[in-house]
Amino acid sequence: MSAPVEARSLVGGAWLDGQLAPDINPAHPDEVVAHVHLADAATARQAADAAREAAPAWRATPAPARGDILRKAADLLEQRSQSIGVELTREEGKTIAEAVGETRRAAAIFRYYAGQTVEPDGETYPSVSASLLYARREPLGVVLAITPWNFPIAIPAWKIAPALAYGNTVIFKPAELAPLTAVRLVEALLDAGLPKGVLNLVLGKGSVVGDPLVEHSEVDAITFTGSNVVGKAIQLKATERGKKVQLELGGKNPAVVLADADLALAAEHVARGAFLSAGQKCTATSRVIVERSVLQDFTEQLVGLAGKWKLGDPLLADTRIGPLVSEAALKSVMGYVDEGKAGGRVLAGGSAAREIGGGYFVRPTVLTDIDPKGRLAQEEIFGPVAVLLPANTYADAVALANDTPFGLTASVFTQDLGKALRFVEETQAGVIKVNQETAGLEFQVPFGGMKESSSGSREQGKVAREFFTQWKTVYIDTGRR
Ligand code: NAP
Ligand code: MG
Repeated sequence: MSAPVEARSLVGGAWLDGQLAPDINPAHPDEVVAHVHLADAATARQAADAAREAAPAWRATPAPARGDILRKAADLLEQRSQSIGVELTREEGKTIAEAVGETRRAAAIFRYYAGQTVEPDGETYPSVSASLLYARREPLGVVLAITPWNFPIAIPAWKIAPALAYGNTVIFKPAELAPLTAVRLVEALLDAGLPKGVLNLVLGKGSVVGDPLVEHSEVDAITFTGSNVVGKAIQLKATERGKKVQLELGGKNPAVVLADADLALAAEHVARGAFLSAGQKCTATSRVIVERSVLQDFTEQLVGLAGKWKLGDPLLADTRIGPLVSEAALKSVMGYVDEGKAGGRVLAGGSAAREIGGGYFVRPTVLTDIDPKGRLAQEEIFGPVAVLLPANTYADAVALANDTPFGLTASVFTQDLGKALRFVEETQAGVIKVNQETAGLEFQVPFGGMKESSSGSREQGKVAREFFTQWKTVYIDTGRR
């Protein structure tokens, strides 16, 4: 067990003390990973002011020079991926392979947006009135990035990297449950030469620092990933103040297993989507919709995997599933599981496993005989829980897949290309996968959801530019045409 370290907010280049709170290890809740100096409302406001002060010089820095700093930060994250990964696992609970992989993903995202700084930043148009007519993308100014704990380095990376690449300054408000990873990300950028005030870090509770940041007059835009309740409230406050807002929210992602599917492949991918990271992904597989003729065969294979995958200390190399992030998460997930036991049938798991180091573990769980209109089939559970829903036909399966307020990701397992393409056409989700799990994204393509899963333009890839910049249209008349 390593000794706790300290985590502080960064405002205008200064690391600030605050009231102390422990950041604990969800696999061993008696272990303190970091002492966190919590920011208050005044610190939050100072962070916004610091970001405003740094904005003109950063905006005036040539984009390729901004890219050089991001590329250096990517190299540092890559070099530090093992140590950052260990700390990420200790504060958040995902397995070490997932944590190191996520840190390397963050490095790749910084490298990608470094590359975007030499891409075209506008378009020229034929004109009837001007010698030169062009439109160019300009920075918004000050961007507030509010992020969840479940991907504590990749999600901040896919917000902060494009924000900085396109010339904005940033206030980063990470989740209270993963502050140390946020500090490590910010350190890599500082060590890469990012000027003071360009990136500011506010470690504080959302309930304390949220409103002062969201309502601050110097904040031009807010990119948020997290729960629907918090996201919608932020959107209301921000839009009435004229700020640009982007929300990435929850999911209740379906995996549809059709009768002609390769059932072993489907079971493996459904188990991965439902159980890895203990099901704590917005893209996790939460509903498994199976054509009745293969229900028994598929279920046996899925239940077999649920019983086999090792639950345990996430720092051990052979662990596949770590703990939930907190005691509150454990309580919430077990509330759903207990409801499933009472109203349906448990085919695998169905219990907590506190005996593993006293941590917040839940056994991979498969539930069936669940009301498709009830809470278990409609709400995001955010734990290693798969709800099995039988379908009589392909059409029933698609109707079930679309029957929630969410629309983030969806999978279909089939060997029939025609059915696969129909599913792509008929399913309301921002990301659709054929013969792959619902989770797992590549960073060069747009990411986001339909219906209540997202609002505003998409994240990642080149399309991120839509959110982090605004057009300026320029007519130049030299009198010579
Ligand atoms: P959350 O509770 O909504 O928190 C998200 C962030 O908002 C945290 O930094 C939180 O700070 C902050 N916050 C809380 N109250 C606030 C307020 N009044 N004003 C401003 N900020 C406030 O979500 P979470 O539990 O961290 O993450 C899990 C959720 O994120 C799930 O619903 C999941 O589906 C969603 N998610 C979505 C995506 C996607 O891309 N669609 C990706 C990952 C996760 P504190 O931690 O300090 O409270
Ligand atoms: Mg923690």
